Amino acid sequence: SAQAPFVNEEFVDFTLGENRRAMQEALAEVGSQLGRGYDLVIGGRRIRTEGKIISSNPAQPKQVVGIHSKAGLEHVQLAIDAAQSAFQGWSRQTPVDRAGLLFRAATLIRERKFEFCAWLVYEVGKNWGEADADVGETIDFLEFYGREALRLAGATTPIQFPGERNQLRYLPLGVGAVIPPWNFPFAIMAGMTAAAIVCGNTVVLKPSEDAPTIAARFMSLLEEAGLPDGVVNFCPGARVEFGAALVEHPQTRFIAFTGSKAVGLQIHERAARTQPGQHFIKRTILEMGGKDSIVVDNDCDLDAAVQGVVASAFGFNGQKCSACSRVIVDAGIYDTFCDRLQAKVADIKTGNPVENAYTGPVVNEKAYKKVIGYLDIAKTEGAILNGGGAIETPEGGYYIAPTVVRDVAPTARIAQEEIFGPVLAVIRSQSFDEALAIANNTEYGLTGAIYSNSQANLDRAQNEFHVGNLYLNRKCTGAMVGAHPFGGFNMSGTDSKAGGPDYLLLFTQAQSIAEKM
Ligand code: NAP
Repeated sequence: SAQAPFVNEEFVDFTLGENRRAMQEALAEVGSQLGRGYDLVIGGRRIRTEGKIISSNPAQPKQVVGIHSKAGLEHVQLAIDAAQSAFQGWSRQTPVDRAGLLFRAATLIRERKFEFCAWLVYEVGKNWGEADADVGETIDFLEFYGREALRLAGATTPIQFPGERNQLRYLPLGVGAVIPPWNFPFAIMAGMTAAAIVCGNTVVLKPSEDAPTIAARFMSLLEEAGLPDGVVNFCPGARVEFGAALVEHPQTRFIAFTGSKAVGLQIHERAARTQPGQHFIKRTILEMGGKDSIVVDNDCDLDAAVQGVVASAFGFNGQKCSACSRVIVDAGIYDTFCDRLQAKVADIKTGNPVENAYTGPVVNEKAYKKVIGYLDIAKTEGAILNGGGAIETPEGGYYIAPTVVRDVAPTARIAQEEIFGPVLAVIRSQSFDEALAIANNTEYGLTGAIYSNSQANLDRAQNEFHVGNLYLNRKCTGAMVGAHPFGGFNMSGTDSKAGGPDYLLLFTQAQSIAEKM
């Protein structure tokens, strides 16, 4: 194809006045659209239900962002049928046509970047830069998977058997369920959807209950870009009635899920149980939680380490699967590191994402209560250096102060369990051997980083630090599509490597054809 080579979307520079003004205008414009109603979209038809999912602004919970029709049990078969019937045509479209849809969608999002950023600010409380990173990653996924689909369409067998013509083709699987989390509600939602459909599959998309509005906006945009009816069926729905039933349905060929370990494991079990009338083994693509470590070696650039740890731990309030929630610091520099960390975290401004504070609220009341519960545990497991409690505002936003806890044992609960909030445990290590052992002592294995000036230790980390995404002398968040294929080891998931050259294979089945000449 004539596509230019893939490059990552550039970040918006919000230090420029024109970009700040554009963002403020978008916030005002989207602000005037809050509280609208959205319907299910099944087979291209709008369906309104009695039951509703109400999405609200975590900085101001009384402010309704969107009111969504709610898919229930009765919609499962309807959505599967619509996807099944669309599969007949969509699976036979050329890869060029299917990739074209992704490229057009990317172009439309690029034109409305600030508007999409504003929806993320209101719906999940991202600050401007975090929102822009989410929108940029969405564009990247569309551009990258479009190109990957074209590459796959040209795949051949490495060997031709004498006297035969040999082909290897990657066919779509069928109808799938796409179940994204709320924390990258644009990029992960759109990325899993795009990967599935560009290969010729059709899907039922069940967005997170905390972020259905951004998904509804994406659905409309896909339609504008020329999505045929039924290729994506948009169904916000309750987790048990709709989500679980979708996973168990005998015609659901694959499930692309990103979310917590508990739900991922449940989907894995449910999908493994063969249902009456089921003619295949379901494929599951499960990307789950993390408890990610940064190792700080005694000879490293301390300023860089402190900066990287703070960005990794508190960017978007630690609500990233890649977030650093444990920092393992060599005893030789431990006290100095703690002092500098404390000073840097004390400078963090927490406040309303609309005003672009560095950290904002956590996503909802449940998350707020969960993190507050961990703060109580933290007080018994270490010494609080920063934060340790909630921040109250007149609007009742779910704010929690960035919290650092020092002298935490590697086996303490706050050093082992995913908190998914602005809480960082500092752990002392007596040697580099011990630092690596601590880094590897969780059930997870998603991201990790090491700050060191010792080549020998960096080399050892490459061989012994058991995580899916390892970073040397840089922060452990902010994976870039194409450059850092993303996915974790152990209980962090199936290591699907989103944004990498192997990802689309997960949404296809390969067929070998041999023709006698
Ligand atoms: P979650 O609670 O597991 O929910 C994820 C999705 O699963 C939501 O759409 C949810 O719907 C749905 N769901 C819940 N129960 C279900 C069931 N029984 N059957 C089918 N679907 C069900 O996770 P989250 O709170 O949205 O996201 C945060 C988690 O995601 C963290 O653990 C984080 O580490 C992880 N994460 C991982 C990655 C990665 O790439 N590894 C990336 C981002 C986030 P409802 O909204 O209706 O509950």
